[in-house]
Amino acid sequence: MSDFLYVDLTGGTAAREQLPPDLEHLGGHGLTSNIVCAEVPAQADPLGPDNVLVYAAGVFAGTSVPNGGRLSVGGKSPLTGGIKEANSGGSAARTLADLGLRALKVTGRADELSVLMVKADGARIVPAPELAGLGSFDTADRLWKQYGDNVSLICIGPAGELGARASAVLVTTTDHYMRAAARGGLGAVMGSKNLKAIVLDGAGGPGIQVADKAALKEASKALATGILSHPAMAALEALGSAFLVGVTQSMGCLATKNFSAGTWDKFQEISGEHMAELISSRPGGATKHSCMKGCIINCSQVYTDASGEVVTSGVEFETIGLMGSNCHVDDLDTIARLDHLCDDLGLDTMDIGAAMGVAMESGLLEWGDGQAAFDMLAKLTSGDADARMLADGCAITGARLGVARVPAVKGQSFAAYDPRVLKGTGTTYITSPQGADHTAGNALPSPANPDYDPSSAQGQAQISEFLQCYFAAIDSLGMCLFATLPALDMPELQGEFVKAAAAVTGQDLPDDYLIRLGDQVVRCERDFNRRAGFTELDDRPPAFVVEEALPPSGNRYDVAEADLDAMFSA
Ligand code: SF4
Repeated sequence: MSDFLYVDLTGGTAAREQLPPDLEHLGGHGLTSNIVCAEVPAQADPLGPDNVLVYAAGVFAGTSVPNGGRLSVGGKSPLTGGIKEANSGGSAARTLADLGLRALKVTGRADELSVLMVKADGARIVPAPELAGLGSFDTADRLWKQYGDNVSLICIGPAGELGARASAVLVTTTDHYMRAAARGGLGAVMGSKNLKAIVLDGAGGPGIQVADKAALKEASKALATGILSHPAMAALEALGSAFLVGVTQSMGCLATKNFSAGTWDKFQEISGEHMAELISSRPGGATKHSCMKGCIINCSQVYTDASGEVVTSGVEFETIGLMGSNCHVDDLDTIARLDHLCDDLGLDTMDIGAAMGVAMESGLLEWGDGQAAFDMLAKLTSGDADARMLADGCAITGARLGVARVPAVKGQSFAAYDPRVLKGTGTTYITSPQGADHTAGNALPSPANPDYDPSSAQGQAQISEFLQCYFAAIDSLGMCLFATLPALDMPELQGEFVKAAAAVTGQDLPDDYLIRLGDQVVRCERDFNRRAGFTELDDRPPAFVVEEALPPSGNRYDVAEADLDAMFSA
């Protein structure tokens, strides 16, 4: 059994309770959305006192399941106006498990900027006005100095304090780097509650109980073997997710020049191969790095500059695509520094990269001038209006600058895949209750499924619906998405996930548990959004992807509206 910690910031109280039996099988995304759907008034102001923030470990946190330690953060999004779940690596989910906790639910608003300290013998809310305006790295350094190097931290930067709508929630790793639950502006929700950070000290905690340790060991072993047998895992380990730069370029769907093209002649400058060469040629870096304990893929990196100084860890494909090819920035060092700046300010690199592309399209910034974008964004804390516009994300930037081509759905930016070639992914962008979010259901082609044509208009709604359910379930288990891609090609591994979940919870779970769970989660989110005022018209692509043919393929997004409207209707 696991517990819940209910924290009322207004009253200054924290109470620990056993997870209700009907929620015991839920973790991560499933748990955050279940609580948000039930407890947040759908019409609530996302930055008002009625919004609730939930931090939930997945069902596999603290167990032997490989790559099973991600943390989900959920609430109503100030970026989309709908329900939101964003998840992150780092050590927080595992520390929650050490404490015997599945989740924290935070309500109300503290009188002054505060830190929530959670230990085995209780929790308390500590005023921390001295942290006001600090970047996430300085915040973390001060908290490690105060509470010890081994605590796990969840924090925001100044962007969250300022209520910027593309604000991220940062989560630290055991080796003191930052990861981010970046999407949807949940950092601003944390800021609206005057909550600068959560300190988790797992020392002396009871840990989690596993109902059937032998069955869990067997399933974990099968999963590790199966995951590592997939060819994409070797590419991820060698080149990080940046290996997708070359893949998307070859498919003609690499986000380029504010989504006006699908290829870029300078793509090699920002490729995973070039990044690995650069890191290897410099002191102090690492081409392989794990963002959380139990990872068997190591897709992250430690990116250093020429002198061996760490710039960031790590640089993801989505950041490279949206800040690189999408803005014609051909210098990985500049992209890495932008990544660090976003982590320090507490911003989503994806929405910021898309906002930079829109600002370049408008003429406010020059194409390719990543340094000017860096300088503009760095002025956020001094109240600069252009910096604030970028920090509010791509959709708001597009509206303020009067740009027609704005790559966003429900207020949230696309990822770095163009939806006119990857139409299943595009269908997820358009119909996911999360807004445009590739992690909600990315439909990539695979050698194991040679009949799938990602650029056909046919069948994409069904594929997206399946993937939205699959990934909502995977996020509920706390699995890293990369480690679950092999199970799409090897369905027997999906059975091992179900066996592992049954072994942890002691519940008898059906073979189709993942899809049933994900279906329940997504339907509950769609219902929340309907109650919040969303209609079928919000499940529509931006006009430019329908009207503008994408070079070089000439593709347009042409999945029928009737197909979109039929999703989740059965
Ligand atoms: S595969 Fe990458 S993102 Fe996933 S847990 Fe490992 S390092 Fe983190």
